[in-house]
Amino acid sequence: MASNFRHAWFQSMLRLGAWLLAWLLPGLVLGAVWPALAAGLGLALAWQYYNWARLLRQLRSRRHLQEPERGGVQGEVAALIYSRQRYQRRRWHRLHQALRAFRTAANALPDGIVVLGPELGIRWFNPAAGELLGLSARDLGIHLPALLRAPQFAEWLDRGAADPLFDLASPATPARRLWLRLIDYAGRHRLLVVRDVSKLMQLEQVRRDFVANVSHELRTPLTVIHGYLELIEPGPDTEWSGPIAEMRRQSQRMTRLVEDLLTLSRLEGQDRLPDEPVPMATLLATLLREAQTLSAGQHLIAVVDPAGCDLHGAEAELHSAFANLVANAVRYTPAGGQITIRFRDDPGGGVRLEVEDSGPGIAAEHIDRLTERFYRVSTSRSRATGGTGLGLAIVKHVLLLHQARLDIDSEPGRGSCFSCVFPAERRIERQSDPFN
Ligand code: ADP
Repeated sequence: MASNFRHAWFQSMLRLGAWLLAWLLPGLVLGAVWPALAAGLGLALAWQYYNWARLLRQLRSRRHLQEPERGGVQGEVAALIYSRQRYQRRRWHRLHQALRAFRTAANALPDGIVVLGPELGIRWFNPAAGELLGLSARDLGIHLPALLRAPQFAEWLDRGAADPLFDLASPATPARRLWLRLIDYAGRHRLLVVRDVSKLMQLEQVRRDFVANVSHELRTPLTVIHGYLELIEPGPDTEWSGPIAEMRRQSQRMTRLVEDLLTLSRLEGQDRLPDEPVPMATLLATLLREAQTLSAGQHLIAVVDPAGCDLHGAEAELHSAFANLVANAVRYTPAGGQITIRFRDDPGGGVRLEVEDSGPGIAAEHIDRLTERFYRVSTSRSRATGGTGLGLAIVKHVLLLHQARLDIDSEPGRGSCFSCVFPAERRIERQSDPFN
């Protein structure tokens, strides 16, 4: 590059020298050397000025330069600008092609994509997003929460939108159910992915209705069978006493199964539960009483309550969830074991209810699956103690409806600790204390 310019500079000087020489000769002949040289120099300057002005005009008008003739400093500058322009043009063309390919691909996606700016302003969206969210070109630049006004959506954003939002009614067609996921990229930019899950929701509803209807239909015949079995008194020595006792046990088990299935379907069908202050001191006292009744003096049971606060939630459902954990502790802990029901502050700022036992413990590979319906570590032990395999699934659902989670800490041979961890918003000042 430097040698090109040196060469161009040399060529320019040579041309100027030749031009001045051409003016010097007539000057010598006419005896007017200086005026002739001045005229030549003036014309050379004017020519240079004209050429630079032309180049400047072309650049200002943003026109593409014609391929310039090389030669001299000016030709070299023009050639350099021309090659840079060509390089930029090719680059721009390639970028344009890539952008078009990306847009075409995004437009062909069945999922909706919305590109959002740092303040959730809409920058771009594909046709599927337009259809699912009811967006049009005039919505570009608008803050997304101003268009999606469902409280569910606002709550999801407030919670940080870390997990996908399931089952949002489409603002364009409320019968359509949407799944939304917000992905951070390039610093504070966000990408919203929207999927139509109406079919999935319908199937889920059919499954839920089926389970609920079957359970409901089984309830009456079971009550009748159970009622008659209670009436039959075969006497202690007849051969029927054993079978009838077994029939009673099985019909009770079926009744519990049906009740648990109905509870689960009811919980699954709800978005939220009615919130009320739950007096924890009373609830803990009830749990202790129930545990003692179930244990019939076989375990050492204690309640510890250092949290000293109440919970904001649905009392009946919370009682059922905690009672499930307590019943499991009693059922799975051998006689002589220790059970502690502890209500204490959570290091994360919330509050937790723990049910700890000195029972057999659970191997790590089972822990993640315990809340699945009918998942049991030992089916025989579960059945023998009257389990339905649905208890922890009910606990999980109740906690989900309270934005709480179930932590399970257990090791074979060292007992188990099941903790219901509630967020700080669920804590309230204690209103009652039956122990004082
Ligand atoms: P189940 O009616 O069978 O008890 P759950 O959903 O309540 O059903 O519990 C699922 C499984 O988790 C149980 O079958 C049992 O294997 C295990 N489990 C629950 N609680 C305990 C506990 N405290 N100690 C040991 N195992 C437990």
